[in-house]
Amino acid sequence: MMQELLQQKPEIAERFGDLHPPFAAQAAVVESNRCLNCFDAPCTSACPTHIDVPKFIKKIASGNLHSAALGILDANVLGASCARVCPVEVLCEGACVMHGFNEQPIEIGRLQRFAMDHFHAQGGRLPRKSDEKRPEKIACIGAGPASLAAAAELRQQGFQVTIFDKRSLPGGLNTYGIAEYKLPLTDSLREIELIKDLGVQFRLGVEICGENSLAELEAEFDVIFIGAGLGAMHRLAIPGESHSGVIDALQFIEDYKTGKTTQIAGDVIVVGAGNTAIDAANAAKRLGARSVSILYRRTREHISAFDFEYRQALQEGVRFLWLTQLMAIHSSAIGITSVECLCTEIDSDGSLKPIDDSTFHLECNLVIPAIGQSPLLELLTQCRDVQLEQGRVVVDRATGQTSNPKYFAGGDCVNGGREVVDAVADGKRAGIAIARLLEVAYV
Ligand code: SF4
Repeated sequence: MMQELLQQKPEIAERFGDLHPPFAAQAAVVESNRCLNCFDAPCTSACPTHIDVPKFIKKIASGNLHSAALGILDANVLGASCARVCPVEVLCEGACVMHGFNEQPIEIGRLQRFAMDHFHAQGGRLPRKSDEKRPEKIACIGAGPASLAAAAELRQQGFQVTIFDKRSLPGGLNTYGIAEYKLPLTDSLREIELIKDLGVQFRLGVEICGENSLAELEAEFDVIFIGAGLGAMHRLAIPGESHSGVIDALQFIEDYKTGKTTQIAGDVIVVGAGNTAIDAANAAKRLGARSVSILYRRTREHISAFDFEYRQALQEGVRFLWLTQLMAIHSSAIGITSVECLCTEIDSDGSLKPIDDSTFHLECNLVIPAIGQSPLLELLTQCRDVQLEQGRVVVDRATGQTSNPKYFAGGDCVNGGREVVDAVADGKRAGIAIARLLEVAYV
């Protein structure tokens, strides 16, 4: 399946063309020469993985793209995908000193992508950090960014690493859950090939759940890293929710990314106003929906989506209905026909209350809930002596170690759902800490 998807259908690629087109070579050099190479580099401090931004930009300016990419990868093994999916406006580019001179910030994300695209096009490989072959074995649960970063770090230091994931492809949300116009599925898989090439083993289609699986894992491996992400999307808990025309946002994104959904007809309602809701709404529009409306109970000021995501959705033609609560989904023999909504208002104390007699209906053929994911409690509660707080794994921030010293954790199952780059930073930090622990324990 992986090879099949690496030669993805051209119509998907066409419809989901780049949100930010790549730099041409000359434009990249011009842009990189604008960088002031700041000594204290606030852009680097703002990056959760602390990529040395001025250093890699200087290398692009001097034409040393391979070395620029190696510098990026040294800090962030998913440098290619982060170049495309990071909210740079609130991270590195948001911190760029150019803002202080009323100049456009340096386009760090696009420059990073330029270096990484070159690296991949030239068949670049990740270097090893040690020639030592260590016998200790580490299992990573989940094949998303946190596990990939931990696995790469440990493998580069010579340890034996195996990643387990219930899905048939690695990458977690990078592969299945990020809008195609931000990160094509093929690019996510291409990046993971670098980690495979290091010798990290993948056991895909294998779900680790239940005391037996974990007990087997504990017996076979010296350390277990939990990078399992989050669980299913929250349910709407309204009449009509179980209709087949209701598809949660992550499933919807996965379906079109893997070619299961290639077009949509009719009117689409997306419920929720986070970044995933916007990814799904934009995708529905690009897949041919007649109209796409996002329903949100509160107002523009309350949404969790980044401002640039919101503006992007407006550009795509997505309509926002504020102060609107979904109450029921109606259907006939041919499918969903409409949704029933209620207007809401916000009290002076900030609480939300429904407005009497304000019910209205909207025609609709597909409903996409995007109201957040729940913790992966089925798995997490089975991890022996691993402390949880509000469904999140409690870890030592500096190392990622849990209350059971054999278990480490990072990414969404720890932070409740943040950016890919945060998961990579967690995974790398844990990888370094696990390596230290094993070195001390086995000397
Ligand atoms: Fe270059 Fe801006 Fe970073 Fe300064 S803050 S090093 S100008 S990218």
